[in-house]
Amino acid sequence: MDHTPAPTGRTRLDSYVDRYAARTAGMTASEIRALFSVASRPEVVSLAGGMPNISGLPLDVVGGAIADLISDAGPTALQYGSGQGTPELREQICEVMALEGISAHPDDVVVTVGSQQAVDLVTRIFCDPGDVVICEAPSYVGALGVFKAFECEVVHAEMDEHGLRPDALRAAIASLCEAGRRIKFLYTIPNFHNPAGVTLSAERRPEILEICREADVLILEDNPYGLLGFDQAPMRALRADEAEGVIYLGSFSKTFAPGFRVGWALAPHAVREKLVLAQESATLCPPSFSQMAVSSYLREHDWQGQVKQFREMYRERRDAMVDALEDLMPPGCSWTVPSGGFYVWLTVPPGVDTKAMLPRAVTARVAYVPGTAFFADGFGSSAMRLSFCYPTPERIREGVRRLAGVLEEEMELRATFGATGTHEALTRSRYDGPGSDQA
Ligand code: PMP
Repeated sequence: MDHTPAPTGRTRLDSYVDRYAARTAGMTASEIRALFSVASRPEVVSLAGGMPNISGLPLDVVGGAIADLISDAGPTALQYGSGQGTPELREQICEVMALEGISAHPDDVVVTVGSQQAVDLVTRIFCDPGDVVICEAPSYVGALGVFKAFECEVVHAEMDEHGLRPDALRAAIASLCEAGRRIKFLYTIPNFHNPAGVTLSAERRPEILEICREADVLILEDNPYGLLGFDQAPMRALRADEAEGVIYLGSFSKTFAPGFRVGWALAPHAVREKLVLAQESATLCPPSFSQMAVSSYLREHDWQGQVKQFREMYRERRDAMVDALEDLMPPGCSWTVPSGGFYVWLTVPPGVDTKAMLPRAVTARVAYVPGTAFFADGFGSSAMRLSFCYPTPERIREGVRRLAGVLEEEMELRATFGATGTHEALTRSRYDGPGSDQA
């Protein structure tokens, strides 16, 4: 028998509102989430989502390996496992990190449910409400969502085409210290930044480490794209030159497949213990099946050859996007040219509000993520993130063509009518939390 109460006209949520913990006030759905369900229609070219393009994966090989895994080791693969992750995978993770100059012991690795969970666990163990996390401006929307959920205050530090600016970091730390604030860590994405598309230069890396060492600020180095560089060998990780002051996060989502949800944190030994306890209370253990599947893929397959193919595919798409931007964008726009990863950051002429413009873009069958999603303080309305990872080069060009048309119309409107009140108000609209545009 169905015991569902008959609808009363009130939404069921009403009766729960007063019971939620205060921290859930920070968990709000993005206003643009609804638009994204429209944006996923096939006629819309989505330059919005950051979904890895896994169409090149050898699914027959992966399928065969999974079938073997179940027949050979099913009772272990389908059982609970250790809270820290399987020893074999943690060893393999150390080999992966060695490609970025990191020398680490498998004991200091904690396997997580994607690196997203690692961001959550690190914040959980370090941050009290009101603690400060310094983030780049802009920063990854999914991390900002975690920091907000734990009631941290995010303070942004500027970047330029060489990544985080040491002077901006120094100034942010100095003014926070002067104000007596507790800085818990610097959250940084040094390689092929999401969403900015820039990479921290080799020259700046020691300086950033030195600034944090001097000020005793921990670094959370989030590096899911590090092996996806187009033109060069992987950059040396910050963690490679500083073992105590850096927690490093990695992921198999972009180099293999996000569906396994396998990522990791490499932490100083003492922190590792707390992370495992936090992991156990969150999930008991990361999924044995996924970890063993990833292990078998790394062991049996030429995974580095596969990563090379991914790099070539993404480079072709980056080229398609940058060429299309050069050919089609109206004057006054500028953009970053990423040397790896998935994203271009496009800055539009002053006065154009990318959030206000999004419904018009979706009507013109192209989608992007407005810059405001990547700031905790309401900035970013004159920028947007464009992803080139998923659509084909032809679709990317078509998407940029549509976007250029919408931007031209918007600029003409502004030239004719000047700034409208609505636009000005939204220019300063505040960050409204991650939506389905989080990836
Ligand atoms: N960090 C960054 C910078 C990301 O872009 C993403 C995913 N888009 C993640 C973390 C989380 O990735 P996952 O949980 O799939 O490892």
